Amino acid sequence: MAYDDSNVFARILRGEIPCNKVYEDEHSLAFHDINPQAPIHILVIPKGQYVSIVDFTAKATEIEIAALFRAVTKVAEIAGVTDEGWRLLANIGINGGQEVPHLHIHVFGGRKLGPMLTRS
Ligand code: AMP
Repeated sequence: MAYDDSNVFARILRGEIPCNKVYEDEHSLAFHDINPQAPIHILVIPKGQYVSIVDFTAKATEIEIAALFRAVTKVAEIAGVTDEGWRLLANIGINGGQEVPHLHIHVFGGRKLGPMLTRS
C-alpha cells in the first residue's frame, strides 16, 4: 500500500492538528491516544512515512528502527509502567484492525490488561 500523507498522524507530524505529546526525538513522536482503551494508552510513531511495520522494516534505516523501539521503552518509563508491566501492540492491515495508515505502536498500561485477545 502506498503511503497517503492525508492520514491523521501525518497531519499531527506536520503540526496541522494538535496532539497531547508524551515524548519526541529526532525520529519518533509519542502522544496520548484520543480514545484511550486503558489508563495509559500512548501511541508511538516514526516521523518517517511508513504505512505499517512491514513497510517500516523493509524501508527504514537501522537508526530509525532502533529509535522507534527505544522510544517505546522510553515512553513506558515516562508513563511509569515499567515496574508493574505493560503491553505494546501494532495493528497491521484489514485483519489486524489498523485504522490509521501510518505505523503506530500502542503502549497500554495502568491496570491488569487481561487476555491478549477476546474470542469472537
Ligand atoms: P489502529 O486501530 O491501530 O489504527 O489505531 C488508531 C488509533 O489512533 C486509535 O486508538 C485512535 O483512537 C487513535 N487516534 C485517532 N486519531 C487520533 C488523534 N487525533 N490523536 C490521538 N489518537 C488518535
